Amino acid sequence: MLNGKTAVVTGGGSGIGKATALKLAADGANIVVVHMDPEEKAAAVIEEIEALGVKAKAIRMDVSDFSAVEGMIGDIVAEFGSIDILINCAGITKDGLIARMKEDQFDAVISVNLKGTFNMIRHCTPVFMKQKHGTIVNVSSVSGLIGNPGQANYSTSKAGVVGLTKSTAKELVSRGVRCNAVAPGFIATDMTANLSKNNKLVDMIPMKRMGTADEVADLIFFLASDASSYITGEIIKVDGGVAI
Ligand code: NAP
Repeated sequence: MLNGKTAVVTGGGSGIGKATALKLAADGANIVVVHMDPEEKAAAVIEEIEALGVKAKAIRMDVSDFSAVEGMIGDIVAEFGSIDILINCAGITKDGLIARMKEDQFDAVISVNLKGTFNMIRHCTPVFMKQKHGTIVNVSSVSGLIGNPGQANYSTSKAGVVGLTKSTAKELVSRGVRCNAVAPGFIATDMTANLSKNNKLVDMIPMKRMGTADEVADLIFFLASDASSYITGEIIKVDGGVAI
């Protein structure tokens, strides 16, 4: 049980992040949702989490802002007493072919998906080192493992998350900190809303369907909990077989 632990979930206002926040809360963890959603949407998510009997708070914050993230982590520790679990789920896409990709399209995706994940890990690390424990789960993508046409920026950011996960795992293992990543395939969320009716795409998936946010959250929950206490530096696919 995660009773009394505090989990910070970026991108926790929707999709995979929201499903993860609810699973962690159902097991007793207090939850901080870091999001960029409209306040009313985040407030509804917090209400759902609180209904599970835990403390919850939403913070509207751009994870790509290094110093703002530093201040936020300090505020969370002051209010919640600790951060035990960090789930880096915030992410964006700005797809386009390389020949036409604009500089800001590339920079924006790297900033949120890769630098945002680094910023959160960077500022949680002193907290974890002081506590001598902490669990990090990053959200990569099969796109970062095998590439995807039209996603040079996104694939690069998610491949970067793989390197970041492995370096963090090696660097912090002696401090009692584990760091792993999940690599989802095609998951039905707002991010893929325009893909879900693409039958050709669904046909490419060996399981012949898109995954659900809950199926990814189950894996994140496993990696965040003591059930995976001997696992660190792993990247686990949850993709219906698409990247076999
Ligand atoms: P989603 O519903 O769009 O969730 C992404 C969340 O991140 C949204 O709540 C979004 O807020 C938030 N966010 C975006 N930019 C942010 C920023 N700068 N600071 C803080 N929060 C920010 O999509 P999802 O599918 O659940 O995606 C979750 C993660 O899974 C992402 O990292 C994504 O790359 C990864 N992933 C998804 C799939 C898939 O098929 N869906 C596959 C592989 C990997 P707004 O809604 O306000 O933008």
